Amino acid sequence: MRTVDTLLCCRWVVPVQPRGVVLTEHAIAVEAGRIVAVLPAAQARREFAARETVELPHHAVTPGLINAHTHAAMSLLRGVGDDLPLERWLRERIWPLEAAFASEQFVYDGTRLAALEMLRAGQTTCSDMYFFPEAAARALRDAGMRAVVGIIAIEFPTAYATDADDYLRKGLAARDALRDDPLISFTLAPHAPYTVADATLARIATLAEELDLPVHMHVHETAHEVGESVRTHGTRPLARLDRLGLVSERLLAVHAVHLDDAEIRLLAERGATVVHCPSSNLKLASGIARTAMLAARGVNLALGTDGAASNNRLDLLEEARLAALLAKGASGDATALPAAAVLEAATLAGARALGLAERIGSIEADKEADLVAFDLSAVETQPCFDPLSHLVYACGREHVSDVWVRGRRVVRTRQVLDVAGAPLSAAVIAPLVAWQNRLRQFLNAPAA
Ligand SMILES: [Zn+2]
Repeated sequence: MRTVDTLLCCRWVVPVQPRGVVLTEHAIAVEAGRIVAVLPAAQARREFAARETVELPHHAVTPGLINAHTHAAMSLLRGVGDDLPLERWLRERIWPLEAAFASEQFVYDGTRLAALEMLRAGQTTCSDMYFFPEAAARALRDAGMRAVVGIIAIEFPTAYATDADDYLRKGLAARDALRDDPLISFTLAPHAPYTVADATLARIATLAEELDLPVHMHVHETAHEVGESVRTHGTRPLARLDRLGLVSERLLAVHAVHLDDAEIRLLAERGATVVHCPSSNLKLASGIARTAMLAARGVNLALGTDGAASNNRLDLLEEARLAALLAKGASGDATALPAAAVLEAATLAGARALGLAERIGSIEADKEADLVAFDLSAVETQPCFDPLSHLVYACGREHVSDVWVRGRRVVRTRQVLDVAGAPLSAAVIAPLVAWQNRLRQFLNAPAA
């Protein structure tokens, strides 16, 4: 008998790879943070002696969800800028608040809050873009979450950095400091075509090749952005990025709402990823991304929540359901983005985009054990003929019961655990009250 750390005995396993497969009464054996076998539960009980056996008799277990685009620290700004279009949201609310508050501590505390919300919603990895990326990385790691941290670049000064070179220098230093952490990796994260100059983008294209990093960027989010680019640069943003060498399999084009047919073909040919953020696109009235066409052309389609300031939930399962429904409604084709494709977008497609597909994104032997158990015994998931359908169309994040990251249980029956495996103490969220009071004072102050 082989001894393993953990044996998860599951009513259903939805491995994502191969697409659409549901395994009934299967077990997942985990040793030293890795999946060593996925096999029928009865056979697993004969072959493995486990230090811990977890019975999941009403549960569907999937790979950990991968949130391919967020600004985790902005959870502290949840609800401060509702009902505004992107440009006014940025200029009137977000940028003034960030100018007044963004600091290392703000980012750590805000990201810690976001990590708790994401873990409870079944997300084991997030791809983050924000100032003070080292603080964000520490907060995510301290929460037990896997982090892909953006080395942010933007031309204007903030409390974090003075100019684009300074942003890159500081981000690269954070990468050096954290390069041995098994839960942390990096992207280059130029904010957007309209906030980053050609020289910086060209340098980022070179760095991406040299350091083998993905490039994580807001692209074609609004019609306004595309029009401004034509006026200022004489070209649409994606064509400009292509001229600068950035449209490749490394690119995570976030939002990508306004794409013409040729642009969709270009993204497909180059193997680029579109990170679809449907709630944020709807809330800021940016538009509806052409996901049915993107999928039909073979573009790698991942999902993101965006930050809590434009969503206002970090709930990737909700994005998955919305992605499926919008693809159908907007294309007039009810077969567009079926449940299996959407679950892949929420898991393996994100892993692919982030250069992590060898390690996470599906439940397969030799991958790391990032896993989520959904309890399907609740009334709202009865009856259950197809758990894969339920995961996308019937479940909410409240059905996430247990979560493992690299084999460590971080959520147990909806309770987030600390590093010692004990329920997380309320002290973790204590700093949030202080931030709420400071932010409220600023928001209530009469405009100068
Ligand atoms: Zn964003």
